[in-house]
Amino acid sequence: MTSLLDAVVVGAGPNGLTAAVELARRGFSTAVFEAKETVGGGARTEELTLPGFRHDPCSAVHPLGAGSPVFRTMPLDRYGLEWLHPELPMAHPWEDGTAAVLSRSVGETAASFGPRDAGAYRRLVAPFLGRWDTLAADFMSLPLTALPRDPVTLARFGLAGLPPASWLLRRFRDEKARGLLAGLVGHAIAPLDGFATGAVGLVFALAAHAVGWPVPRGGSQAIPDALTGYLTDLGGTVHTGFEVKRLDDLPPARAYLFDTSPTALARIAGFGDHYAHYRYGASAFKLDYALDGPVPWTAEAARRAGTVQVGPTAREIGTALRLASSGTAPDTPFLITAQPSLVDPTRAPDGKHVFWAYGHVPHGWRGDLTDAVERQLERFAPGFRDRILARATAGPPELAARNANYIGGDIACGAARGLQLVLRPTLSPRPYRTPHPAVFLCSSATPPGPGVHGMSGHNAAKAVWRHLRGAGHGGT
Ligand SMILES: Cc1cc2nc3c(=O)[nH]c(=O)nc-3n(C[C@H](O)[C@H](O)[C@H](O)COP(=O)(O)OP(=O)(O)OC[C@H]3O[C@@H](n4cnc5c(N)ncnc54)[C@H](O)[C@@H]3O)c2cc1C
Repeated sequence: MTSLLDAVVVGAGPNGLTAAVELARRGFSTAVFEAKETVGGGARTEELTLPGFRHDPCSAVHPLGAGSPVFRTMPLDRYGLEWLHPELPMAHPWEDGTAAVLSRSVGETAASFGPRDAGAYRRLVAPFLGRWDTLAADFMSLPLTALPRDPVTLARFGLAGLPPASWLLRRFRDEKARGLLAGLVGHAIAPLDGFATGAVGLVFALAAHAVGWPVPRGGSQAIPDALTGYLTDLGGTVHTGFEVKRLDDLPPARAYLFDTSPTALARIAGFGDHYAHYRYGASAFKLDYALDGPVPWTAEAARRAGTVQVGPTAREIGTALRLASSGTAPDTPFLITAQPSLVDPTRAPDGKHVFWAYGHVPHGWRGDLTDAVERQLERFAPGFRDRILARATAGPPELAARNANYIGGDIACGAARGLQLVLRPTLSPRPYRTPHPAVFLCSSATPPGPGVHGMSGHNAAKAVWRHLRGAGHGGT
């Protein structure tokens, strides 16, 4: 490969691949270089335990993927991506067998919170119903300078979401709604009293009503595989097993995009301490189970849900998140769990199931959370342990070894704290730009942050095609 490429992308995670597709479909010659032997980054599927059990070591459930403004512009279904919807997107059970639920239906969700909170929930989400497409496109493109498509709805979203989630919880009187919404904030490993954490809870709730919380048939790997198939048809190339250590390792190109941590980018491109201010946050302890049958949840709703949050109260969840963020592994972890084989028989042998779970632990923690996780599961699903055929566990060191972007095991590639939740990696209206005019950052360390949605890749690609066209290289 000696001719000058328009763009080289480092890292074949969802954002790197999306950036590559966005450039290739505009006629720019593009090549991707990935350190691991397979594409996917944080969206992959592997037989981690027993033959025939197909686990997702990282992402499993994809409200932000199904609702991604950029994925919706791509024919990914033609490349094998099929979203499977569980009967309920999410359940949040209590030990007495009751549960709050996040349903496609606002009415069913509100009813599960009880009569004292049903109205408050309806009032919270009402201004945004039917507006996901424009709202997602607007807030996932921030802080670019383009005018929002629906500034009024975006402003209402900001008013509701910019304060801490703890403010949002005060709208509710009973534990069911408060627990479920606190759990939603936990998906971003954000403390409940943090700036803009209300927006995290609101986004996940609105996504459930607008697009559901689906899993891809065959596992999360289907997402990067579809992006790679599309990219290849567009003329792009993907090179795996190629860890980039220096810019000189790469073929000559007009622009370079990094789907990496800011720390790695600084090291590779020689940016010194440009990103030294950037903070990495708490980690996860991940467990993948091969089960002899479905999880025996006491709450009936949890047996029908793709995702189950195990808290249950906002206080317990807040404590678990605070402990993990401040350096102590919680004895009673808050768990996010998923049961993809409820809707996807390709994931496990007949009658058997895969089960996906993680709890939050401190950055770089070296302990084993398995017992605490299983004690917590037994509270809500007595007999869970008897169903275990095999388990695979990964704490911060193993997560960091799986993916160089998980520094200290931080699966969000940067703490979701303070302004860094929204404005990352620097306080700049052009977060995808770097000290070098031809080098760009496109990973989840840039807005809109973590999740398999490709929007960081899309936004960075937009900065690149403006740069290339500005320099007279037009694509087609
Ligand atoms: C346990 C866990 C659970 C999660 N659950 C969900 C979920 O359910 N839903 C959801 O939407 N999101 C989830 N996420 C988050 C999601 O996986 C990430 O936010 C997303 O993958 C980020 O995409 P990315 O492209 O920015 O980076 P990544 O997916 O991390 O990809 C980066 C890629 O760059 C490669 N790379 C890094 N450095 C180099 C180098 N020097 N040279 C070459 N290649 C390099 C890496 O190998 C990797 O393939 C989860 C993550 C984890 C770990």
